[in-house]
Parts: sequence; C-alpha cells; structure tokens
Amino acid sequence: MKRVALLGATGSIGSQALEIIGAHPELELVAAASGSQEIEGLAPLTQIGGDLTELLERAEPDVVLNAVVGFAGLPATFWALERGIDLALANKESLVAGGELATAAWREGGGRILPVDSEHSAAFQLLERRAPETVHSLVLTASGGPFRRRGRLDLSGVTPAEALAHPTWNMGPKITVDSATLMNKGLELIEAHFLFDLPYERIEVVVHPTSVVHALVRLRDGAALAHLGYPDMRVPISYALTYPDRAETPIEPLDLAAGVILEFSAPDEQAFPCLALARAAGEAGRTAPCVLNAANEVAVAAFLDGGLPFLGIPEVVEGTLNATDTVAARDLEELVAIDAEARKTAAALTRQLVH
Ligand code: NAD
Ligand code: MG
Repeated sequence: MKRVALLGATGSIGSQALEIIGAHPELELVAAASGSQEIEGLAPLTQIGGDLTELLERAEPDVVLNAVVGFAGLPATFWALERGIDLALANKESLVAGGELATAAWREGGGRILPVDSEHSAAFQLLERRAPETVHSLVLTASGGPFRRRGRLDLSGVTPAEALAHPTWNMGPKITVDSATLMNKGLELIEAHFLFDLPYERIEVVVHPTSVVHALVRLRDGAALAHLGYPDMRVPISYALTYPDRAETPIEPLDLAAGVILEFSAPDEQAFPCLALARAAGEAGRTAPCVLNAANEVAVAAFLDGGLPFLGIPEVVEGTLNATDTVAARDLEELVAIDAEARKTAAALTRQLVH
C-alpha cells in the first residue's frame, strides 16, 4: 500500500487524482485538503485551508500530491522535501518561488520529486538514467493558448471568458489564464531549470498547438527524443502516483493512423511578453522568480475579476520586478515575507491600471 496525501483535492488536478487513486487498490488516500471547499469524509483526515503541514504530520504519507494552486503550496513542498518523502508535484509555483531553497532541501532530504506537470513528467521520463553530458538541450512545448494567432494589438480587449477557453487542456482558472499569457510556459521554464539542473540557455520553448508532444530532449549526437500522448493529465498523475510501476490508465493509445498533427513554431514574444519576463527573472535568480510569481498571481486575479486588462498582466509583473530588489532568501519564512511585499507592490500597480 502507498499512503497518499492529496492537497488541492477539489481542483482540476485533485479530482483527476481522486479518479486515479480510486482505480488502484494499492493507492490509499489517507488525507485530503482544499482551500475553502467542503471535503469532509473524502479521506480519513481532511483539512480546509490553514497550515497544510499540520495535516501532513498527522497523515504520515508515503507520497504527497501537491495540487494546490499558487504560493500557498510552498510549505507542503518544503515539508515533503525536507523529510525525503516522495513529492508528486503539480504545484509549479513551489519551484518557481522557492526553487533555490527547495532544491537545497531536496538534496538534503534525499527524496524524489515526481513531476506532475505534463511537460516535466515527459522530460523526467526522457532524462531518467541518462548521462547529463549526453544531453544537448530540453524542449518544452506550449499549446499557444486561445490567442495563439493574435498579435499584440488584438489582445488589448480580450475578456476573462475568452482567456478561459483553452483549446487543448481543461484546467483550473489561474493556470488557464497563465496559458493564455504564456506565463505558464515561463513558470515551467523555471520549474524545469530546478528539476533537471539545466541552465536556461539549454531549455527552449516552442509552440505546438495540438499538445501531443509534451517535451523533447536533444542529445549531443544529433538525435532528439520526444514524449507523445493525448493531452490528458491523468497520465502524468498516474505516472507520479504509481512510479516506478507505470500502472494502466483508461486512456486510449495514440492513434497515429487517424492523423496526428505535429507542428512547431517559435513563440511570439512581442504579443506574449510574460515568457521573456519569466526567463529574465529565472536568469536573475535569487528572489526574482518569487517576485514574478507573486505579481502574476495578483495580476491574474485582478484580470479574472474583470478589472485589469489582459495586457495589464505583463505590465504589473514587469513593474513589480523593476520596483523590487532581489536577495538570496535564507528560509521559507523570508520567502513568505518577500511574496507578501511583492503582492503589495503588484496590487498598487494594478490599481493604476484598472478601469
Ligand atoms: P484548481 O484551481 O482547479 O484547484 C486548486 C486546488 O487548490 C483546489 O482544490 C483548491 O481548493 C486548493 N487550494 C487553493 N488554495 C489553497 C490553500 N490555501 N490551501 C489548501 N488548498 C488550496 O487548480 P488546478 O488547475 O488543479 O492546478 C493546481 C496546480 O497544478 C497549479 O499549481 C497548476 O499550475 C498545476 N497544474 C495544473 C494542471 C491542470 O491540468 N489543471 C496541469 C499542470 C500543472
Ligand atoms: Mg504544463
């Protein structure tokens, strides 16, 4: 039996994880948490909001599936990494906001991070047991989101409803807006840097509208390996929870004869400045990615509320980064303070742009 603690149990990842756990008798759900939704009875131990590490202490899990959205997911990530407990990680914000400290805790704790983000699950499988010196570069694919064909001028008036209509993935609202701005791929770039210990110049992002190829690894001899599959998060969730057994899932095998379109192009960084902002924050390191993440969370929430224009999102992020000095955070407590400060700056910038 594998004891699973599921954090973010009511979300898009959380509900698909419940389906996977329900289908595998060897997975035992011992604890579940949500932010505010009622979940009593879902698991022997449940918690709504609050300090999720208290729930984890009581649950004694073998694996923590962190599917909380946003910075609120950080304490649970650190809890698992410090103890060397398997971490099935969907909460990419953990590695963006806290990457340097989290990877140090990971090394010391000696446990595993099993990525749930589809691109990173794919990259993990492509890179596993591969000698690092044979790897030339990693390629992350982006669907391009609902506004892929639009130029910058066509993006000024887009509404939350339009941004929430993702062409290939059905996900929670925050990550869906991040996909529309391409910030999601920027966050994933930083996530990949920390997960796979690759410098930013060796991680490329390409647009691939059908989301069939999740990642590629280029090797030094000119070969490139790709990971393919229909866009269905149950595959990486199942892979992470049943690792290393790769249990069966109800997903249909890829039907190549039916016609699978493999098309790739460069992202339009003029129309979608969030990607370059994330790359620059990642390269700057220290607490720059934490500030980027905080500002983005504030801006996305303001956009979804209907006040901030779509193009205001990169503006708030860039303004917050410009207004904030970065430091090398010593611990999670300091990150929490930096996150809070960046949110204040971002909220002030947002108020100037809301109409
Ligand atoms: P969602 O909005 O559907 O669900 C978020 C979950 O987090 C909910 O259960 C909510 O109650 C919980 N939550 C929010 N604040 C909390 C708090 N303070 N304490 C405890 N629980 C809290 O989001 P989602 O789409 O499932 O995404 C979850 C995470 O997985 C995000 O980091 C996202 O980037 C990542 N991810 C999601 C997908 C996807 O397909 N949905 C794919 C890749 C990565
Ligand atoms: Mg992803």
